[in-house]
Amino acid sequence: EVADSSPLLQNLNPEQRAAVALPNEHALILAGAGSGKTRVLTTRIAWLLATGQIGPGNVLAVTFTNKAAKEMMTRLGAMLPVNVRGMWIGTFHGLCNRFLRAHYKLAALPQAFQILDTQDQLSAVKRLMKQHNVDEERFPAKELQWFIAGCKEDGLRPNMVEVKSEEDRRKVEIYQLYEEQCQREGVVDFAELMLRAYEVLRDNDPIREHYQRRFHHILIDEFQDTNKLQYAWIKMFAGPGNSVFAVGDDDQSIYAFRGARVGNMADFVREFSVRHQIKLEQNYRSYSNILDSANQLISNNKTRLGKNLRTDQGAGEPVRIYEAPTDMAEAQWMVEEIRHVVRGGGPDEGVSRNEVAVLYRSNAQSRVIETALFNAAVPYRVYGGLRFFERAEIKHALSYLRLLENPNDDTSFIRVVNFPARGIGARSVEQLQDAARTVGCSLHDAVTATTGKAGANLAAFVAKIDTMRAQTEGLTLREIMEVMLQQSGLLDHYKAERDGADRVENLEELVNAAESFVTQEGFGRDAVALPVDELGGGAILRQSPASQGLDPSLPEVHEPAPDYVPPDAETGETLSPLAAFLTHAALESGDNQANAGQEAVQLMTVHSAKGLEFDCVFVTGLEEGLFPSERSMSDYEGLEEERRLMYVAITRARKRLYLSYSQTRLLHGQTRYNVKSRFFEELPEHAVKWLTPKNQNFGGSAFGYGMGYPSTRGGYQRESIASPPVPVQKAEPTHGLRQGMKVFHTKFGEGTVLTLEGQGLDARAHIQFPRHGAKWLALSVAKLTPVN
Ligand code: ATP
Ligand code: MG
Repeated sequence: EVADSSPLLQNLNPEQRAAVALPNEHALILAGAGSGKTRVLTTRIAWLLATGQIGPGNVLAVTFTNKAAKEMMTRLGAMLPVNVRGMWIGTFHGLCNRFLRAHYKLAALPQAFQILDTQDQLSAVKRLMKQHNVDEERFPAKELQWFIAGCKEDGLRPNMVEVKSEEDRRKVEIYQLYEEQCQREGVVDFAELMLRAYEVLRDNDPIREHYQRRFHHILIDEFQDTNKLQYAWIKMFAGPGNSVFAVGDDDQSIYAFRGARVGNMADFVREFSVRHQIKLEQNYRSYSNILDSANQLISNNKTRLGKNLRTDQGAGEPVRIYEAPTDMAEAQWMVEEIRHVVRGGGPDEGVSRNEVAVLYRSNAQSRVIETALFNAAVPYRVYGGLRFFERAEIKHALSYLRLLENPNDDTSFIRVVNFPARGIGARSVEQLQDAARTVGCSLHDAVTATTGKAGANLAAFVAKIDTMRAQTEGLTLREIMEVMLQQSGLLDHYKAERDGADRVENLEELVNAAESFVTQEGFGRDAVALPVDELGGGAILRQSPASQGLDPSLPEVHEPAPDYVPPDAETGETLSPLAAFLTHAALESGDNQANAGQEAVQLMTVHSAKGLEFDCVFVTGLEEGLFPSERSMSDYEGLEEERRLMYVAITRARKRLYLSYSQTRLLHGQTRYNVKSRFFEELPEHAVKWLTPKNQNFGGSAFGYGMGYPSTRGGYQRESIASPPVPVQKAEPTHGLRQGMKVFHTKFGEGTVLTLEGQGLDARAHIQFPRHGAKWLALSVAKLTPVN
């Protein structure tokens, strides 16, 4: 059997091996967390290459994050003597970017088109709304932004959107105007990258057929979270002679709120007549206490395809549960625990800080945790918050750079035309915008038509940009950055600012980022190629049969960048380093700094932890209304998605898992009195251990607040962990309401209690009424009767 002959397959179980060595036919690998799906996908690519069935150019692989793409390329590069840089491995956005750069003419885009991130997009929408007098009250800009993204993700251009009301008509009108504006400025947003690439493939038979012939294998990780457009895009690449290899887990589908369709799995099996469906049931990541917890929790979901997971690793440590009186106490306890784990408490070896993850449901929760870590001088890194490239000073700098690259980029123009201040007021800018609209040109070009003092200032700004462009011609990226920072006045501006030191530092960091980008991408003269051994792959390489008898100069891989755009195959045309760097800044999602510098505790939302694994994981803020989130609790599907999210959170842990919640929490400027998450009730008793007495009170811990709990500041002893949980007397809330209870209101009818807050006369309830929406009701006033 072929499958046994390759050393690449030796470290796999029989099901994994079968999956890796499937023939070139469509396949679906459906399996639970930690069962080796991603490993199988990577190994399959390596195996196809190593056995000489295909070359590096014949693979299209889609990963969920840039980090995953990078990891995959590094691993492949280490396993095989191939140049992974040119390989089509990346995220949907990264791959679409590459595709559109190659076919920019067909896509009706300038080759150096720039990418709008979510922030840029919002400000573009706002600008448009102002110009066209759209009422912000009736049409919040954020809502329009979502509307536009939603249409694009459904593959709908403005003329295709169904209009049912005057309101719809207005929204579609804005969508249309927005599109025209982007087109004029030569910029595209994230959803546009996908849609535009899809349309080029759909409308150009030779292009589509070319790629179908080129890509013998199309491999997709995290398939359960693809949306409609992504699935349609995949279908464009599937031709008569190639195959789609999809890998996923329905229990980890957590992006339905953003249009992901878990139904794509069933559609795929049907539409592609998939003959090979492989299930992987062995989990290699976690000890069984962790795995049992995940399994039992998810078994509460009704809509599942159904799979099992088992592990040979033994029970391991119990899942530890902690209840804190306040969010600060929760964070404080966690910091102590992290120090303990990192030091190597008990029989454990010390765990590296990089191997400790703190997960939370929403970004707003990170502040308290950060403060506690900061005060305790524990290094940490936050993922998915404000990216480096999204900070104000960086955005300003990038705007200047974008204007150098494309003077018609109005978004950038507006951002910096009066920053640093140069006497150009909002009114002058508005007049300029009017002039530009009348003539139908960019703001840059409209400046010549302006007059007076304002006109002179505007003209000076444009002259400055144009001079800078001339000055930077032919310079290295680093030199361009330096000229820009000086000439724009940004550096001086922040140096003069009282609290500007951090910002100056960030601008300097931007220069460094540019420098290392050039090195990594091989743009500059100093491009460095890392020998394979430095990537730790030397040993594997020597075992690989494909490496035998090959030119010894071959085993060199560059540190691969998933958003690398290779030069045009025919013309050799390539992006300028500046354009490439700007693209990188837009696509880099902040997940790449993983191993930069010092070892640090990893902070992130559960969403961004997908696909990752850590030795030690904390899942914090497990409170009703937070996790599961308030909005999700009103409908069944929402709740199932939250449970899948919890399943993802639990299954990130290899060895040690902590779950915690707090009775009170300051969030969005309000103190919330919390009830512990229902998910605790869904965990197997044998696998968990309560570090604090298990609080049976499901009726509102606000009433038992502060009583009978060990205080975190000193009172809590680690040795006391082993003491058996002491049942706490259930305090009966006076109003007798509970979370999830059905109640009847004389005016609003039947509803479900979402949250309870406060006590006595201040007690309030957030209640979801099917016909009237969610309402906050004061319990001393509202007449509510429980319904059975
Ligand atoms: P998720 O659903 O969370 O994305 P996954 O199914 O993609 O998980 P992987 O990340 O590929 O799982 O694998 C989980 C862990 O198990 C990894 O550390 C991987 O190296 C390891 N692993 C997978 N298969 C094997 C195997 N046959 N032998 C030993 N370790 C394995
Ligand atoms: Mg995976």
